[in-house]
Amino acid sequence: MSLIIKELMQIGESALEKAGCMDPRIDTELIIRFLLSINKQQLYIKWGEVLDEKSCEEYFKLIDIRAAGMPVQYITGEQEFMGIPFKVNKDVLIPRQDTETIVEEVISEIKSRSEQRKAPMGGYQILDLCCGSGAIGVSLCKYLTNIKVTAADISAGAIAVAKENAESAGVSKSMKFVESDLFRLLKKGISGTKYHIVASNPPYIERNIIPELQREIREHEPIIALDGGEDGLDFYRRIIKDAPDYLKQEGMLFLEIGYDQGESVSSLIDQSGRFSDINILKDLAGHDRVIKAKVKAKVKAK
Ligand code: GLN
Repeated sequence: MSLIIKELMQIGESALEKAGCMDPRIDTELIIRFLLSINKQQLYIKWGEVLDEKSCEEYFKLIDIRAAGMPVQYITGEQEFMGIPFKVNKDVLIPRQDTETIVEEVISEIKSRSEQRKAPMGGYQILDLCCGSGAIGVSLCKYLTNIKVTAADISAGAIAVAKENAESAGVSKSMKFVESDLFRLLKKGISGTKYHIVASNPPYIERNIIPELQREIREHEPIIALDGGEDGLDFYRRIIKDAPDYLKQEGMLFLEIGYDQGESVSSLIDQSGRFSDINILKDLAGHDRVIKAKVKAKVKAK
């Protein structure tokens, strides 16, 4: 059976709606565009065209996969972030729009430093911890010319995806990749490097909340990238403890947080006694989303 694209899309949309998908229309469009390798404009031109039987079959297969709960980004293998297309697969979290907040904050910090003084030789050193797909580090390299980013992640699969994304965004020369459980390998390997900025979007979901998340997240996104331990704060504790040793003088820590973690994470930072200028910043939806803090100068022993 061959069908007209417009009809195919109507059928797909109602199937996804019935299956309880959040954006049936958008997902249907993304699936058909992926199948035909065409952009939005080309889709509107092809609207009335007939699709051959084989393509129709393939299309319904993909619609079924989406209806069964797989996020559309894992079907198409792509998600846009900061206006840049990122490759994604099951090894990485799909970059969220919320995470653009931390990128924008780091960009404005580097820009304001660059206005105040000359950029350091070799550029500002930035560490992207728990880099996943590389969304934060790659975007920073794309929007800032005077930086070098080290991207670290515990997952070899994630590092592979991040490298590909750096390559296709044309920023590999500004990036270095390390497979490491937070700072662990940095301690042994490329130690000596201290950073102007450590930025991280670590796993921060409370463990007992995970079974209640949307099935798209719960069943398909990597749990290792979401699970922040019993109270969701495990990674913040470790990062806050070690980050001061990796920050240059006046260095800054930027952390993405859950909308309800502003108070708990800022008090962890405060209690460490190693940071000043702790600020909670909001995302576009008005939720607490990022905390920034400046490392204190080390007090010399008497
Ligand atoms: N904000 C993400 C979510 O709600 C979680 C990101 C993370 O744990 N770093 O799925």
